[in-house]
Amino acid sequence: MSNSISEIIKKEKLNKADLSYLLSLEGKERDDFLKQTGNHYINSLGKKVYFRGLVEFSNYCTKDCYYCGIRKGNSSSERYDIDDEAIIDAAKFAHENRYGSLVLQAGERSDKIFTDRVTALLKEIKKATNGELGITISLGEQTEEVYQEWFNAGAHRYLLRIETSNKELYYKIHPKDEQHNFEKRIECLRTLQKVGFQTGTGVMIGLPFQTYDQLADDLLFFKAMNVDMVGMGPFIEHTETPLYKYKDDLWPLQRRFEVALNMIASLRLLMPDINIAAATALQAIDPMGREKALRYGANVIMPNITPTTHRKDYTLYENKPCTDEGAEDCSNCLSIRVEMAGREIGYNQWGDSKHFFNRQIDKQ
Ligand code: SAH
Repeated sequence: MSNSISEIIKKEKLNKADLSYLLSLEGKERDDFLKQTGNHYINSLGKKVYFRGLVEFSNYCTKDCYYCGIRKGNSSSERYDIDDEAIIDAAKFAHENRYGSLVLQAGERSDKIFTDRVTALLKEIKKATNGELGITISLGEQTEEVYQEWFNAGAHRYLLRIETSNKELYYKIHPKDEQHNFEKRIECLRTLQKVGFQTGTGVMIGLPFQTYDQLADDLLFFKAMNVDMVGMGPFIEHTETPLYKYKDDLWPLQRRFEVALNMIASLRLLMPDINIAAATALQAIDPMGREKALRYGANVIMPNITPTTHRKDYTLYENKPCTDEGAEDCSNCLSIRVEMAGREIGYNQWGDSKHFFNRQIDKQ
């Protein structure tokens, strides 16, 4: 069997059947697959791993996604909004600690007060860090004008997870209304690419009703959309959300974790030159979760530098790791972890997606 794994790994084009097969692997065959892919990937992409300091600056959200702990309908979530000064301090921290890049993430809002604030904030951060800090943002669905404004203000990468590329499943995990429209989300990804962002998306793994075939389709969706970056991690049920009622029907947490790593390794084979993040949700299941992801295909890690007082309130899912550590503890612990995974940190580098630049060359 591991013969057929090495044959699949060598294939020029992976099809849906190959991907479903790889995703479903268990036990020794799975170990072989991950190891072979890890080696294959190090040989081609090298050992570098890039940091993005993550600031989850607000958990106010206008959306009501059925899986998410900060959904509008969760009245037990304590809401916060970190002030600009503290966000800029966090950006300076990332800069001083040679992280190279920052990720700003928050619940989804599209009112003008919010979008103007983000524009001003991006400019301030650029100024405070001599234009040296790369900025990724993950602030949901917006109009083209807003995306353009944020791009002009200095953000150059954008993450917007599709959550699942299967339309039917999408509407099982979101309300079926204008505010949670599947096509609109895809349209937003296209707009982000048009504006010029390095564009990232991703899915959750182990959702209720989800199958290996659907996950294989997710990988093919990333390829068809020609995205530059992907962040994906296991679904972790949250008690205060509608999907909690399916908790007994889910894959066990450990299996969700395993399949998440299978997804990362398979995606690395499918899209060798994109950036793949080792999602924080991996660490909520396995203390070494993110390091394992770095071994088998991920090349980006996002140390959480949200000021500690609010970190525990950005609970998308329960059991979120590192919610009680200061930023400094986190960076020390991470550099050791990255080295343990046999990787090197690309300090002071933006660590842009090679795929993005290859895409520009293809266009000429
Ligand atoms: N508002 C931003 C990002 C906020 S949440 C946006 O709309 O893009 C960031 C990601 O956390 C989501 O895209 C989702 O994939 C993930 N997430 C939310 N709830 C989760 C859960 N219960 N388990 C695992 N991941 C979850």
